[in-house]
Amino acid sequence: MQNLSVRSSGFTDSVIRRMTRVSLKYDAVNLSQGFPDMDPPQAILDRLAQIAPTGPHQYALTWGARNFREALAEKQRRFMGIDIDPEKEIVVTCGSTEAMMAAMLTVVNPGDKVIVFSPFYENYGADTILSGAEPIYVHLKPPDFNFDAELLEQAFRQNPKAIILCNPSNPSGKVFTREELELIADFAKKYDTYVITDEVYEHIVYAPYKHIYIASLPGMKERTISCSSLSKTYSITGWRLGYIIASERVIENARKVHDFLTVGAAAPLQEAVIPGLKFPDAYYDGLLAEYTHKRDLFLKGLSDIGLPYTEPQGAYYVLLDMSEFGVADDVRFCEELAESVGVGAVPGSSFFREPIHHIIRLHFAKKDETLYEALNRLAHIRTKIRKKSRCTKP
Ligand code: GLN
Repeated sequence: MQNLSVRSSGFTDSVIRRMTRVSLKYDAVNLSQGFPDMDPPQAILDRLAQIAPTGPHQYALTWGARNFREALAEKQRRFMGIDIDPEKEIVVTCGSTEAMMAAMLTVVNPGDKVIVFSPFYENYGADTILSGAEPIYVHLKPPDFNFDAELLEQAFRQNPKAIILCNPSNPSGKVFTREELELIADFAKKYDTYVITDEVYEHIVYAPYKHIYIASLPGMKERTISCSSLSKTYSITGWRLGYIIASERVIENARKVHDFLTVGAAAPLQEAVIPGLKFPDAYYDGLLAEYTHKRDLFLKGLSDIGLPYTEPQGAYYVLLDMSEFGVADDVRFCEELAESVGVGAVPGSSFFREPIHHIIRLHFAKKDETLYEALNRLAHIRTKIRKKSRCTKP
């Protein structure tokens, strides 16, 4: 038989999603794939129940139901501080996963270069391969995950078509400062580069850090393709509701890409989430307070156990330094962690371009009791993992 496509053979399955399967296999507390075990807001669930008998149950407009887009434009205008035309500047997608892929296919020709900060959310690897882009990696250096401005400009000098900006950043928890965003914006304008953002953690930014939308900086609305989703903001990761906000010119093409990829996002779910899009600021303050509490609880637990980590400024991930375990293969290490300790994690090598194998990622988007259970299990990590490795040594 003929070979399958080079495209589809050029990447592995998602390690993040694989670690969820590994966690299930060993009945581990799954802190790998980032999704909450908290319920969505009641108003959204009530609306979902209310529309079950009446619908909509058929296709929404391909680029999103009008009332959903109107509510979304209003909400994002409030937070982003820019005007958004719901008729011309939004396409509703199946999660930000599709938004990012559609954005890439909209701007990138095969062979075009795209700047990716490393560590990066693993989807961007597959996104570049599927769109035929050639990534130029720029290292974010732990523990602050700052970048070298000169190295970034060197990357821009290679004439990239786009830069992917995940802000707040997964997995590092970095929140880009205004100065950093201004520098990226200046380079983007100077070298005529699009900025494709992934801002799904826009409402999870811990004080004193602040989320700044790069699209809101002077001259950036035209060249920014803002991707985000409702998954994390309303705890509805399974609903697959995301979107692209960009200029009319970009959206015109992005709508076509989206149309032929998926036709559209689920119509009843678009309808059901509208009360959420209309929540007042108090909802977002409450969400942040909840995640701040979880972050503090979880980081304190890790400190008590003596596991070193870098403190996230935003999002709900924490990177842990596992060097004391002499990790050579972090994928194997995470499997062992799930099997012997009972906690699911993601190996750092699925995020870092650099040969880094001593880091793992955990997330804390879980009920307090789930986090306590994970911490109780992690408290035994040194006996479980050390003992096991000693046993297997000749
Ligand atoms: N963003 C989540 C993570 O990094 C997972 C998203 C997904 O699996 N689609 O774990």
